[in-house]
Amino acid sequence: MDLGARALYLAGMDKKPPLILYLAAPRGFCAGVDRAVQIVELALQKWGAPVYVRHEIVHNRFVVDGLRDKGAVFVEELDEVPGDRPVIFSAHGVPKSVPAEARRREMVFVDATCPLVSKVHIEAERHHAEGLQMVMIGHAGHPEVLGTMGQLPPGEVILVETVEDVAQVMPRDPDRLAWITQTTLSVDDTAQIVAALQARFPAIVGPAKDDICYATTNRQAAVKAIAPKIDALLVIGAPNSSNSKRLVEVGRSAGCDYAQLVMRAADIDWRALEGIRSVGVTAGASAPEVLVDEVIAAFADRYDLTVELVETAQERVEFKVPRVLREA
Ligand code: SF4
Repeated sequence: MDLGARALYLAGMDKKPPLILYLAAPRGFCAGVDRAVQIVELALQKWGAPVYVRHEIVHNRFVVDGLRDKGAVFVEELDEVPGDRPVIFSAHGVPKSVPAEARRREMVFVDATCPLVSKVHIEAERHHAEGLQMVMIGHAGHPEVLGTMGQLPPGEVILVETVEDVAQVMPRDPDRLAWITQTTLSVDDTAQIVAALQARFPAIVGPAKDDICYATTNRQAAVKAIAPKIDALLVIGAPNSSNSKRLVEVGRSAGCDYAQLVMRAADIDWRALEGIRSVGVTAGASAPEVLVDEVIAAFADRYDLTVELVETAQERVEFKVPRVLREA
């Protein structure tokens, strides 16, 4: 083989297969997560390390590890926090008993509960004050559900996870009921559960549509827009992130059979992606953009990559940090 032919042969060997990467927008950090992370960073500036955080501030190991490196200490319960150090409550919200205990111990605490979760807490309290029993649509054991149910006395909130659960609801008075939802559910699945509740309890009252937040709704809509175009969908997010897991389910039900959750580029199963010509990438509300960049770079290493942005909405939502941290 002469030199020219050999150069052509090697160039052919190096040639990467073409791939279109559809990048969903909106994706990644929502205003509630952004605020919660800022609260921990500002608390570290104001009070110095260590600052304690009850529960993962947001469901993302990369974010949590970054804050830990700066001096945050993550604990599961308040009794693990020394009384002379500040403590932050996570974006998911906490049962009323937690700030009550912090007050009793005269601790410095900052509540990073997302304002859109607090709105659901207020809704539940308002209905309770009117004498209604609540039905909450959500996932058992999720911190947001524990926090919302913990706004009312035991027995006042009945949890349903599925349409089938609705048949098992045994309220005190079927005519005195209200419903609320977790903020990070599947929009379509929730609509079915609400319809089942309304069919069984015609007098039940609730929000105009649901309590699913703008960020969850927008990220799901963007996935629905790209799912029909792609051979595979990667959702960047943590296995305990509710809104990230819902994005995988939404991708599958919108027509993309291969939809996987990955925490970062190292988790991508390249063998499973062999032969694809297009891929969709999105990120859950607690996944930082740096992890999206990492995944795109990993694809660019292996493919002759074309990135196309699919933007279905623009977000301009911002939440202020609590006053006590503003001057920090
Ligand atoms: S996902 Fe929605 S409710 Fe949860 S922190 Fe973000 S904006 Fe708030």
